[in-house]
Amino acid sequence: MIYKRSSQLFNEAKQYIPGGVNSPVRAFNAVGGEPIYIKKAKGAYLYDEDGNTLIDYIASWGPMILGHAHQPVVDALIDKTKLGTSFGIPTEIETKIAQLAVEMVPNIDKIRFVNSGTEACMSAVRLARGFTKKDKIIKFAGCYHGHSDSFLIQAGSGAVTFGAPNSPGVTKGTAKDTLLANYNDIDSVKSLVKANEDEIACIIIEPVPGNMGCILPQNDFLEQLRELCDTHSILLVFDEVMTGFRLAPGGVQELLGVKADIVTFGKVVGGGLPVGAFAARQEIMAHLAPEGPVYQAGTLSGNPLAMAAGLAMLTELNSKPEIFDELAQKTAYLHEGIAKVLTNHEITHQINRCGSMISVHFTDEPVVDFESAAKGNNSKFKTYFHGMLDRGIYLPPSAFESYFLNNALSYADLDHTIEALDDLAPDLK
Ligand code: PMP
Repeated sequence: MIYKRSSQLFNEAKQYIPGGVNSPVRAFNAVGGEPIYIKKAKGAYLYDEDGNTLIDYIASWGPMILGHAHQPVVDALIDKTKLGTSFGIPTEIETKIAQLAVEMVPNIDKIRFVNSGTEACMSAVRLARGFTKKDKIIKFAGCYHGHSDSFLIQAGSGAVTFGAPNSPGVTKGTAKDTLLANYNDIDSVKSLVKANEDEIACIIIEPVPGNMGCILPQNDFLEQLRELCDTHSILLVFDEVMTGFRLAPGGVQELLGVKADIVTFGKVVGGGLPVGAFAARQEIMAHLAPEGPVYQAGTLSGNPLAMAAGLAMLTELNSKPEIFDELAQKTAYLHEGIAKVLTNHEITHQINRCGSMISVHFTDEPVVDFESAAKGNNSKFKTYFHGMLDRGIYLPPSAFESYFLNNALSYADLDHTIEALDDLAPDLK
């Protein structure tokens, strides 16, 4: 494939935008090479600036669950745009989408809309602190909750007692309130809770992580977290920015039957516009301004365009729940196809899948947490990524990201993807 114009555009962008991109993973740093510039997208396909067509497996990192430029979403946006794009004054559609979300998601009475997943998670943590009157939080290595200071933390030398900043600009003062545990390791959480008795406001987790590839909870890990939170009056925050309205209409809470106290959303809930949301039962949400003292606000929050796109998306997902099964079946088909090819070519691999999320890891150990995900062979991943791209398949440009299938993908697209891998496989030995 030729990427001449993409390359030119990237060089121009680098003159005016740091690293040429507005979000780091887009720069292909993990896989090398230069990003592809997209001109337009429709259904399951991306069309780039050089005239190449690519089968899309990231779906804008999740939201394009029904495919790109999905007609009901486009129509809702066009109609709404004609009526004015932002007022900073309430509109009826905010209540409509809130009502629908509350109907679809278990254990929530109220929801507040924001503009990104970062904002949703940041606000959820503030609300948890305000509600519990405690300061510390626990997060898991490899789980991503956006770029707010409290989340840019790595395990410090005294990991059992406090974390350390993993980005310049995050203060030690902030870092000391974020404790790091290991996903799927309940003992790592228990020891933090014990060492910080009565100080932990919440445990925030991607219940099915997508930010270290797709990882599945094992041995009732989420159920055990729930129990631990109940015993110690800690709020359990499910970050469903990726999984919400994707793995099931009610997200992981519905899929696995584990109850969260606060849930955060992004992506799908905005139909591809910049939206996030956080939600909880009334007792907790009553602490939020203007009803309660915990401050949170946004000029563009509940923006009419974002609400219109989100409402169109959620309405379709709610009225056609078979979409979730269709997506899961397509993902299982892809899983089987990839596994068969890699096994036939004797290439060591692990595949993790949950619903319409899937990831391929080049390692012989099961991938259950950040440490095992990091053991994947990255040079093989780079060959895989670029080899698939050359064959017209756009995969996430990092081994630490999940694929997100969209329902516009046909079985012919999946077969084409599996055949492309079969063609590439000899290079992966
Ligand atoms: N939480 C999770 C689980 C995410 O995957 C992301 C982004 N990929 C975020 C939060 C942050 O969302 P945003 O990029 O919209 O700020």
